[in-house]
Amino acid sequence: MSDLVLRHGWVIDPANGIDGVTDVLIRDGTIVAVGEVGETPGVPDYDATGLVVCPGLIDVHVHLRVPGFEQKETLATGTAAAAAGGFTTVCCMPNTKPALDSPEVVEDLQHRIRREAAIRVLPIATITRGRSGGEAVDFAALADAGVIGFSDDGDTTANSAIMRQALEASKELGLPVIVHCEDKALASGAMNEGDVSRRLGITGIPSEAEEIIIARDLILAELTGGWLHVCHVSSARGVALIREAKRRGVHVTAEAMPHHLTMDDEWVAGSRHLLNVSEPDGRSGEPADPNTKVNPPLRTALDTRAVLTGLLDGTLDCLATDHAPHAAPEKQGSSYENAAFGMSGSEFALPLTLALVRAGHLSLSELISKWTVEPAKLLAGERGSLTPGVAADMTVFDPDAAWTVCAENLKTKSPNTPLLGMTMRGQVKLTLVDGEERYRA
Ligand SMILES: [Zn+2]
Repeated sequence: MSDLVLRHGWVIDPANGIDGVTDVLIRDGTIVAVGEVGETPGVPDYDATGLVVCPGLIDVHVHLRVPGFEQKETLATGTAAAAAGGFTTVCCMPNTKPALDSPEVVEDLQHRIRREAAIRVLPIATITRGRSGGEAVDFAALADAGVIGFSDDGDTTANSAIMRQALEASKELGLPVIVHCEDKALASGAMNEGDVSRRLGITGIPSEAEEIIIARDLILAELTGGWLHVCHVSSARGVALIREAKRRGVHVTAEAMPHHLTMDDEWVAGSRHLLNVSEPDGRSGEPADPNTKVNPPLRTALDTRAVLTGLLDGTLDCLATDHAPHAAPEKQGSSYENAAFGMSGSEFALPLTLALVRAGHLSLSELISKWTVEPAKLLAGERGSLTPGVAADMTVFDPDAAWTVCAENLKTKSPNTPLLGMTMRGQVKLTLVDGEERYRA
């Protein structure tokens, strides 16, 4: 069981400096060897000729909506979508009902994960009880329950004393405090504040709402020595603040999202031109399509460029999706202002970021590192490599295969993406967890 030879694939394992055509031998769900594999009677073969073979991708930021919002996504559909996107491990955010704010709720979710999830799912606990911002959780008890970090994602912890307490616990426990940075008092709008929002007459959210909280949390991380992980950095000044803090030695890591690298606020006006890459444009969309509404919002072309520079120079450590499924009625409200924030992301992340490789910004090995080795640093345990002896979590994909985004062919329950109808290049062919097939195209 769970024995397999992947033959003649282009094996890329950034952790071990492997980048060439060879074989991978899996036995009992574990990587045994990377290199030419001879005859292996009784072990099934997978012909990976022409395909990239790499460690399973890791997404440290998804919303699986369980418990409480199963009309948006379930563990089964959310992890099937992730597996189809090439992910073998995802970390799920705690903005659920009930929120993941106690060991009991976390353990109940872990029980459901074992029964229903197609891939590994590692929960993130809240910072405050009920994500209310009022009272800190029992960080140590939640760490014992196995959470990988703490976040009130979607709701910034406004109280600086509680953030200080969380970062002090982070230092003690060695787990990150994962922050969605947004000053709510400044962020009552629905899209980026700027020329496009004024043109469309939609209330804007200034990038300062994000930058003010990034600055505060960097200062608190410096004060406490705690580990700050900044979610979905979307603004040029946000990137600059993190870059400068890293130079000072502040313990901070950060994420970039595929949509903040390739889409600007013109998408809200109907543009379907991907930035920083050379992919064909999609057909123009309707202005104020709620599928372009995301938080932090799609910002300016200059911001996308700064996020890309931050990703390339290591200011932003890893990629992640912020997969945020919403049921159709929640998206199609009476107006753009009333629609829910969030984009479905798991199934488009690899093709969108492969476009950055095709455009010459980074090598394929560097891209895979941003989806494997780097996010693995947020997680305990051996992940993100093909080192012999580790679990055979692997992704096999065709970097060039073209496919059209169409709601019926997606695994997610909620195809809320502005990419509908567009052509993607890069298709996952096989996803293995512990050597077992969890997705095959
Ligand atoms: Zn999120």
